[in-house]
Amino acid sequence: MTRLTSTRLADGRELIYFDDAGSPEREPSLLEDHRDLPPRAEPGEVRYDTLSGEWVAVAAHRQSRTHLPPAEQCPICPTTSRNASEIPAPDYDVVVFENRFPSLGPAVGRIPAAPAWGTAGPAYGRCEVVSFTPSHTGSFAELGETRARTVIEAWSHRTEALSALPGIQQVFPFENRGADIGVTLHHPHGQIYAYPYVTPRAASLGAAASRHFDASKGRESLTSSILNAERQDGSRMVLESGHFSAYVPFAARWPLEVHLVPHRQVPDLAALSGEERDELAHVYLELLKRVDALYPTPTPYISAWHQAPLDAALRPSGHLHLQLTSPRRAADKLKYLAGSEAAMGAFINDATPESAAERLRAVAGDSVTRGRETAHTLPEGAST
Ligand SMILES: [Zn+2]
Repeated sequence: MTRLTSTRLADGRELIYFDDAGSPEREPSLLEDHRDLPPRAEPGEVRYDTLSGEWVAVAAHRQSRTHLPPAEQCPICPTTSRNASEIPAPDYDVVVFENRFPSLGPAVGRIPAAPAWGTAGPAYGRCEVVSFTPSHTGSFAELGETRARTVIEAWSHRTEALSALPGIQQVFPFENRGADIGVTLHHPHGQIYAYPYVTPRAASLGAAASRHFDASKGRESLTSSILNAERQDGSRMVLESGHFSAYVPFAARWPLEVHLVPHRQVPDLAALSGEERDELAHVYLELLKRVDALYPTPTPYISAWHQAPLDAALRPSGHLHLQLTSPRRAADKLKYLAGSEAAMGAFINDATPESAAERLRAVAGDSVTRGRETAHTLPEGAST
């Protein structure tokens, strides 16, 4: 079992060590943060955009945050005599802590329920940082299965805990990977946002999911239906295991886009069983290794966990899935969101989803299929 140790940083922020199974208990004296930190800032603001019906967070105070610091000043490496980092301990496995420069929070509460033009409120919520490893270099794909499993445990724990905070409507674990995506720290890490509203994307996906779920009288989620169709068709499947499947969606928006879906309808990571979490560690690593094997240099990506919003109308139809996208369309070319995509939300994909899936199947080799035989590559065009 993963061992949890919760502590507080000098300015009161929560920090939790998630240590790999079998780790010894943490020495209490090494948990103390000896830095002299300024008090935490008040939350920024959320403003309601009546034109679109969407909330926008205004976080002007984040301008002063750390930007690509050198390794010896990394804020998420373990603390040394020369670098008093955000993590007081001299070593750790996985750690989660409240972001010092949050877009949302630190206070939580309810934002105005019936907004109109001019409605603003405190940017309630929580932004957390998840450090995947004490090592400054490397990537998620290079974590072993034990460590990946600990990260999954951390995501699940935080999903459950943040969902229980007052006013939280949606919990979103994600990883921005690569300078091309705009990361501000090279150290392998992800983030978790807990929003005081349902995000625009979750609202539109949730509406479609609810329509399907209601039409089937609650027998089938929209994601289950799509998963069955993709498995039958086979041409966009990437990999399959006992509890998870990954495919390039029929109408993928990005040059590289993969959805990883649990076969069982669960609302979020916290609802996965121990066996499913074990398998996810293996399958997710395999997927990331394939993504990285596509090009000579590491593939920039956004790995986004779509979890069911807490809204009682949207939650029953929710079905957890991972959406991994990359803007890279060739070894040295990126897709930029320009006029059609940025202004109209109308995507134009330069690569066929079938060719992207074929490439992700073809890169499966000895380098990416080591480990338990729980995931296998489907032969081209295969049905299951
Ligand atoms: Zn670091």
